[in-house]
Amino acid sequence: MKKDFKHIRNFLAQQQQRYLYRSPRLNHSPQQPDMVIDGEKILTFCSNDYLGLANHPELIQAFQQAAANYGVGSGAAHLINGHNIEHQRLEEALAAFTGRERALLFSTGYMANLGAIGALTSKGESLYQDRLNHASLMDAGRLSDAKMWRYQHSDMNNLQQRIARSTDTASMIVTDGVFSMDGDCANLKELANIATEHQSWLMVDDAHGFGVLGETGAGLVEQEGLSSDDVPVLIATLGKGAGTAGAFIAGDHDLIEFLIQSARTYIFTTAMPPAIAAAGCKSLELMQKETWRRNHLQQLITQFKQGADQLGLPMMPSDTAIQPILVGGSDKALCYSQQLLSQGILVTAIRPPTVPAGEARLRITLSAAHTTQHVEQLLSALGKLNFSTEK
Ligand code: PMP
Repeated sequence: MKKDFKHIRNFLAQQQQRYLYRSPRLNHSPQQPDMVIDGEKILTFCSNDYLGLANHPELIQAFQQAAANYGVGSGAAHLINGHNIEHQRLEEALAAFTGRERALLFSTGYMANLGAIGALTSKGESLYQDRLNHASLMDAGRLSDAKMWRYQHSDMNNLQQRIARSTDTASMIVTDGVFSMDGDCANLKELANIATEHQSWLMVDDAHGFGVLGETGAGLVEQEGLSSDDVPVLIATLGKGAGTAGAFIAGDHDLIEFLIQSARTYIFTTAMPPAIAAAGCKSLELMQKETWRRNHLQQLITQFKQGADQLGLPMMPSDTAIQPILVGGSDKALCYSQQLLSQGILVTAIRPPTVPAGEARLRITLSAAHTTQHVEQLLSALGKLNFSTEK
């Protein structure tokens, strides 16, 4: 008998009814503020290319040169014969940049998180996660043999209570550095103290802080003045501030050797293309050389926050490049996003399950590639929406 896909069709119809149906937009441009999407010229405020490096000529050149030298595909996993000299160069540069003994590349942040949590937690142990951590961390926790507990967002008392309630050994506390959909930062100092008190690992996923926060751009750990002893497992992705793709875990020599032997998403997958690693090396250089990018981004954040404040927009408490406007219902979020689009501005509506039900939002992200005029344009478009009364 033919398989009946009725439940799938029902699900799709329900997603439509609940304003939760999503489709990718077709992008014809490099990643930059002015883009052609679905055939329309629009000004975008939703990319994670925080430093505006994704389309940097020197990155493109580094990528092209490495592709000419080493071809496109890496051909195999790192432990077979896919570990190219460009991967090695990037791992060493990342270790030096983050002030750690070693770094290990993964093809995506999702895989780095699955790999690290899978390898570092075992049966009979407990794993604690902020309830707003990224989906890849949650999925890693579900796949792990350890018992996962979720504590209330940034609530240290709640975390302590959860630890007290568990009879298992506390093996790991995991947090986003900058929360991806809220833009606020984790309380790393307190988390480090709690982790030390319970002799547990502290793992920070600094996907949205890396390249952007801290004096040199090394991220939230640097901004908070913490060391590798405080945060022994640091993860960051390279597809956001660094403008390339992939991710890395940085830590001490033994941690990295352990992950090489045990992290399944490192062992059983093809290494990222060497040219991506070469572009990553160039990106690290530019992050350190072109410090104006971080400064300019900070100015844009201040400009936007002041403007949003004057307009009385329902902003979430964030000082980072992620500036969400909380609107509540998915229908409203979609409607506002559509209204902005009709003014030539793309800000995506973020809806469940990416955020909790009733907390849909417009997630505005700023980039060093934006100008102050771009931000003025955004504020002027937002000023035309009526956030308080619109249904
Ligand atoms: N962690 C966080 C906090 C993220 O926001 C993301 C991506 N949105 C990831 C991990 C996954 O990274 P990647 O896109 O490289 O898989």
